[in-house]
Amino acid sequence: MIQKAGIWFASTLTIIIILSGVTVYLFIQKQNQAEKIKFLLEERNYFLLENASTTNKLESANLTIITLTEQINYLNEETSRLNNKIADNDLELNREKNKNEEFAGKIKKISGTIEVLDKLSKTDEELLAKYSKTYFLNENFIPMKVSKIDEKYILAGKKDQYFHGDAIKFLIDMIEEASKDGIDLKIISAYRSFEEQADLKGQFSQIYGTGANTFSADQGYSEHQLGTTVDITDKATAGTYTSFENTEAFVWLQDNAHRFGFILSYPKNNNFYIYEPWHWRFIGRDLAKDLNRNKVSFQDWDQRKIDEYLVKIFD
Ligand SMILES: [Zn+2]
Repeated sequence: MIQKAGIWFASTLTIIIILSGVTVYLFIQKQNQAEKIKFLLEERNYFLLENASTTNKLESANLTIITLTEQINYLNEETSRLNNKIADNDLELNREKNKNEEFAGKIKKISGTIEVLDKLSKTDEELLAKYSKTYFLNENFIPMKVSKIDEKYILAGKKDQYFHGDAIKFLIDMIEEASKDGIDLKIISAYRSFEEQADLKGQFSQIYGTGANTFSADQGYSEHQLGTTVDITDKATAGTYTSFENTEAFVWLQDNAHRFGFILSYPKNNNFYIYEPWHWRFIGRDLAKDLNRNKVSFQDWDQRKIDEYLVKIFD
């Protein structure tokens, strides 16, 4: 009996111990499970929070992108507006520039015209007029300025001579140039006033009668009154003789006088006066050269064509 009771007791105890062990094990297991769940929950919360924050960040980033896009669009519009304005300003500038250039051109043209008018106002238009028995100089005409010719250029025995102040340098240049070529040109007569011409005509008329008309212009008809006309001879001829045409001096003048602006007023077979190989008139270098080049005489050209040379007669 006692033995049976002992076995039962031992069995029960063993069962109890085993059950307790299992219980303890299960309890521990349960505890661990709970811990794990708690950890996982914490983990989940953390991720949820993290997710929420990321979402916020994304939303905020999206907002920023939208704002920046708007700003970029605004700047693009502003840039294009400024570009248009710049283009407008360029147009305006070009227009202004063109206006200024046009204005400068006008000023230049006006000052050119003024210069020409000023030059012409200081030039006797009579200096290029063609004189004949039907068109003659006014008796009151006096050159704007006359200068005394150095006596070394005057034929010995002749009185003081005067020449147009703006043309005298061309006369002296011509005589000096001839001298270099061994030609000794001498002046017999240059500027003659209306009164002097009248006196001279009177003297000729007393000697030659009406025949004087063919070789001495009536007072007022003479080119000598212009101040730009000169009678030239050489020492050997020493006067206004037709024989002057046979001298080297005359040949030299025919070949070179145009270079200094001088022409022979009354060539052979002219319709106005007898042939006067000694009588040379200054008409400016440009006109004299052009006549020479075209092989025409001063009388042959139209007066309007000749007048175009007046502005540069002393150039
Ligand atoms: Zn003369």
